[in-house]
Amino acid sequence: MHFNDLQIDTRLLRSLEHLGFAGMTDIQEQAIPLAMTGRDLIASSKTGSGKTLAFLIPAMQRLLTTRALSKKDARVLILAPTRELTKQVFAQLRSLLGNTPFKAQLILGGENFNDQAKALNKRPNIIVATPGRLADHLEQRNLDLAGLELLILDEADRMLDLGFAAQLKAINDIANHRKRQTLMFSATLDHAQVNQFATGLLKEPQRVAVGQAIDLHEDIDQQLYLCDHLDHKQSLLMHFLQNEDNQQVIVFTATRADTERLATEIGEKGISTTALSGDLSQSQRNKIMDGFSRGLKKILITTDIASRGLDLLNVSHVINFDMPKNPEEYIHRIGRTGRAGASGTAISLVGPKDWFSFKAIEAFLKRTLEFGQVEGLVGKFKGMAPPKPKAAIKKNIEKAKGKQKAAKAKKGKRNKGYFEGVEGGFGPVLKRKPRPESESESESEPEVE
Ligand code: ADP
Ligand code: MG
Repeated sequence: MHFNDLQIDTRLLRSLEHLGFAGMTDIQEQAIPLAMTGRDLIASSKTGSGKTLAFLIPAMQRLLTTRALSKKDARVLILAPTRELTKQVFAQLRSLLGNTPFKAQLILGGENFNDQAKALNKRPNIIVATPGRLADHLEQRNLDLAGLELLILDEADRMLDLGFAAQLKAINDIANHRKRQTLMFSATLDHAQVNQFATGLLKEPQRVAVGQAIDLHEDIDQQLYLCDHLDHKQSLLMHFLQNEDNQQVIVFTATRADTERLATEIGEKGISTTALSGDLSQSQRNKIMDGFSRGLKKILITTDIASRGLDLLNVSHVINFDMPKNPEEYIHRIGRTGRAGASGTAISLVGPKDWFSFKAIEAFLKRTLEFGQVEGLVGKFKGMAPPKPKAAIKKNIEKAKGKQKAAKAKKGKRNKGYFEGVEGGFGPVLKRKPRPESESESESEPEVE
């Protein structure tokens, strides 16, 4: 099917022709006609399959062909979890606005609040925003959404993960009227938390799923390597970064601090590298992303702030320096490559500290992931035994207690103090083996927008 086959306004069709796509993707074919009926929709398909246009086209069509419910309020609101993704959605929207009279406004955290208030006062028809900042403007009454016709949540599951449920609910409550339509898009929406949330927000939603989140992404070659410790990971990372087939590479670390540290180390080896994290100011973030998307830097080191939605067509490799704690983020991180039919490679480094995250990813994908080896860089770590079930631990404790009692009785009064000094009375028995060297000092923190 081609965009021409959709019953859409010719102005919109002309803009789409400029994009030069040969046809529609599966999710576009399925989701656009359904969304154009006005029904609520929960839509999912793999990363890089064109979900943005799948919601932008029905949004534009609605503006072009129906009368506004309110003259002053925005008609369409699109929310996305990170500033970078929100900017990208806005850029794609702008490519469709050319032949129309509609005004769109970008509202991001980290940018001047008063300037945004002034821009909102000019009554844009479409707002593309991060949820935290938009909720702040609602609270300050810088906009009203009573006349909102279409609410679109891109990467809705991530917004919930980041703790934006209350903001989304506040936005929903203000725009809660019979004619409001809601669309939810992500590669990973099959989630109890998302379903529960959707029930409160959407009215008898239609569901469109092109494949399942856990299906193997055929355009992404997934490779995994076991690592002993931080130094070993770094040696493997350097090995992969020196690969001549690399175009651009995104490296994911667990923490913000690690992005800077690694970028400095790699930069010192003469590879052009940049680091992006939520610690930076918005202008720094803009500069970094502009430079990387223009190909001025070869390597981007980042956290899960960049795991969702970003569409950078020269990214040939994704490297998980640390494994993500949340299995869904694995799907999104590797999905920064292999987009729109191109092929890509995703390399994951699995050390002792990543082991349980790795097992959670395997369980989520319902697949065993095989490890490869790099000659000269094969370590000793071969994985860990699963944690003992609780009942077994309890039994061990009982056993230990029994042994201690027996030992106490045997040694008599002279040794009485030994177990008493240890909390629980059986410290030596329960003493754990020292933990393997950790890959990063602190746990990852959410990147709130
Ligand atoms: P997703 O949100 O599913 O991860 P995007 O909407 O970011 O995917 O689109 C991924 C890439 O595919 C973008 O570069 C986009 O311009 C491109 N694209 C979108 N629709 C089509 C199409 N019909 N044919 C070819 N490429 C497309
Ligand atoms: Mg997307």
